[in-house]
Amino acid sequence: MYEVLIIGAGPAGMTAAIYASRAGYKTAILEHGVPGGQAATTDMIENYPGFPEGISGPELMLKFFEQTQTFGVEVIYEQVMSAELSGEIKKVTTENQTIEAKVVIIASGAKPKTLGVSNEGRLRGRGVSYCATCDGFFFKDQPVAVVGGGDTAVEEAMYLTKMCSSVTLIHRRDALRANRTAQNRALNNEKLHILYDTVVDDIIGEDKVTQLSLKNVKTDELSTLDVNGVFIFVGYSPNASFLPDDLAVDAHGYVITNEEMETNLPGVFAIGDVRQKKLRQVTTAVGDGGAVMHAVDEYLRD
Ligand code: NAP
Repeated sequence: MYEVLIIGAGPAGMTAAIYASRAGYKTAILEHGVPGGQAATTDMIENYPGFPEGISGPELMLKFFEQTQTFGVEVIYEQVMSAELSGEIKKVTTENQTIEAKVVIIASGAKPKTLGVSNEGRLRGRGVSYCATCDGFFFKDQPVAVVGGGDTAVEEAMYLTKMCSSVTLIHRRDALRANRTAQNRALNNEKLHILYDTVVDDIIGEDKVTQLSLKNVKTDELSTLDVNGVFIFVGYSPNASFLPDDLAVDAHGYVITNEEMETNLPGVFAIGDVRQKKLRQVTTAVGDGGAVMHAVDEYLRD
């Protein structure tokens, strides 16, 4: 029986694990892949304090992981299939076993939705990106495209106009989904061009992105656009398929918590990208991972 069982070894989960183990709780993290989550797939992280020269995502996540080991966190490399979280003893089932714990912290993260066009996977990290804050700087003074019409796409496109030579926003309909204020700002930005009724048919490039093949969905007209980068913001989805029905989630499937990271189920907490929140970054994940320990500590003492 663990006192604290954490699902997911991304920055949020590893931070919570460091705090819990250092506080003397018998702690384990369940992780089905490589520790680090999405951050471990980020080439360079330049906005995590403490590393003025920047640090590669894998290197930073390795440091997080090493720190979990300093404090004796147990890591179980198994995929969670289901969880019973409403009782006093929580039961988390993997493909191999059922693990019991007094407290469960859900830190399973989220994944960007992909377009599903050919070459998208092959050119990921070579011009295809799902994070403007992370990768925008690599396209300084270069032309890029952004795909999507929601708040994220429009806001990230605006962010990219600060450093890129031009930003083309490609949206599949004739009206943006983003809120009116964001739309007005976008329409008034000279560096931002919007292509409506257009979808990306293919991403072109050998070693890196050089062009997009586009299709107008109303006229079926095909065209190409020369870009060095394409940022895809067509929504995110939480890694939450294993969560039980009695855990409260929002309309998009993100776990609803209060500021203490408490869910609707006593003894069950959610942190990081899987939690309903506005900014999903390593810094905010780390903040969640530290903040959750206050309520966890109170729960276990009670
Ligand atoms: P979203 O609102 O779901 O928008 C996704 C966009 O991608 C939509 O414009 C959608 O087109 C388009 N899309 C989806 N699948 C596509 C595909 N296969 N090909 C081409 N386009 C596709 O996602 P989001 O922008 O990430 O926002 C998620 C939530 O966070 C929203 O509730 C949003 O309001 C919120 N958010 C808020 C803020 C803020 O308040 N500042 C900032 C960011 C996000 P359609 O329009 O045709 O469906």
